[in-house]
Amino acid sequence: MTNDLMARRKRLFGPNVPTFYDKPLHLVRGEGVWLFDPDGRRYLDCYNNVAHVGHCHPKVVEAIARQAATLNTHTRYLHEGILAYGERLVGKFGHDLKQIIMTCTGSEANDLALRMAQAVTGKVGIIATDNTYHGNTTAVSQLNTRRPPIGGWPAHVKRVPAPDVLVPGSTDPAVFAGHVARAITELEASGHGFAGFMLCPVFANEGLPPVEPGFLDQTVEVVRKAGGLILCDEVQPGFGRLGSHWWGHDWLGFAPDVVSMGKPMGNGHPVAAVVARPDVMAAFREAFGYFNTFGGNPVSCAAAMAVLDVIEEEGLLAHAERVSAYALDKMRALRHPLIADVRGRGMFFGIELLRDGVPAPDAAARVVEGMRDRGVLIGRIGRQQHILKLRPPMPFGIDHADLALCALQEVLDEVAA
Ligand code: PMP
Repeated sequence: MTNDLMARRKRLFGPNVPTFYDKPLHLVRGEGVWLFDPDGRRYLDCYNNVAHVGHCHPKVVEAIARQAATLNTHTRYLHEGILAYGERLVGKFGHDLKQIIMTCTGSEANDLALRMAQAVTGKVGIIATDNTYHGNTTAVSQLNTRRPPIGGWPAHVKRVPAPDVLVPGSTDPAVFAGHVARAITELEASGHGFAGFMLCPVFANEGLPPVEPGFLDQTVEVVRKAGGLILCDEVQPGFGRLGSHWWGHDWLGFAPDVVSMGKPMGNGHPVAAVVARPDVMAAFREAFGYFNTFGGNPVSCAAAMAVLDVIEEEGLLAHAERVSAYALDKMRALRHPLIADVRGRGMFFGIELLRDGVPAPDAAARVVEGMRDRGVLIGRIGRQQHILKLRPPMPFGIDHADLALCALQEVLDEVAA
């Protein structure tokens, strides 16, 4: 069965479309933090942040079904559900971020954020870190660092060294701000000018490096002084993943000009958004006509509204904070010579594996595969894919943490130092 699906997939999708895991997973059902294969074997999901309130949460499923059976149009018509959701969502933000555009993906939201920075400044230069991912549109993919774009890296994008425990000084706020200041000077010298700095406030794709609140203060000052915008990508930390705060920027303690969000917003239903201050939105609307056929339609808004309901009714932020503290303690008690650092915030954890001070991606790969064989799904991040990544749905509980970390110790015991 798996071989047949793999062959069909390859025929249909073409080459270089990897699956997770050496033994690809065929999943047919999800419930809460569990995923099931066709034989009924269950897997503990410690990886998927999209199913934020749990796979197939009945309230979200019911909201989607009810609205789909009633009406689905788009934002060119008046609709109470669209406005009610938008109003409730912008109510979760400070810093005068009270206007919204809804899209279908985080990539589109980031694409709009870039355009907003251009519209406000009249410039095109963008700064991002040198180990990031912000999405897959043509404009946004130019910020990604895994593969050089055809034609080479565009001159209007400058990459600053991401904070990284392996790079001395890189988690120092002043050093980081210095990199950003230099990049701004270069953009101004090259004639592109400086439009904005796009970043994830927990540097999720960079490997969740250990930065502390206040880390960005000096950088924000540098950006503002140069007249650029702070474009905050909340696709990963947003909607309470950090437990302590709804948004990563609230935790880190800075005021963004534009915030984009996606993945968890509809619990798997494709809805994403960008929120901005009215002056930024006005500049954008002046410079660009924009309409998104599917973005923020009544069904998407019903799904997203149900997600907010569940987060609040089930107290998922406080839950995440409680379980996170417990899980982090257990992670720090894991024993293996390759474990160099354990870190986490809310329902997002990284375990960095080094051999003689050098990344150990081989060991990380074996751990991920070993966990899959034991029915626990995790992933990897980091420049060299050497950091174990655990980022489960928010209802992940103490008992799930026990199960996952017991399996992790067993797998680690089998992996040679
Ligand atoms: N920003 C970040 C930080 C992401 O991790 C991702 C997806 N991994 C995106 C944006 C793009 O979101 P989407 O896949 O919904 O386009």
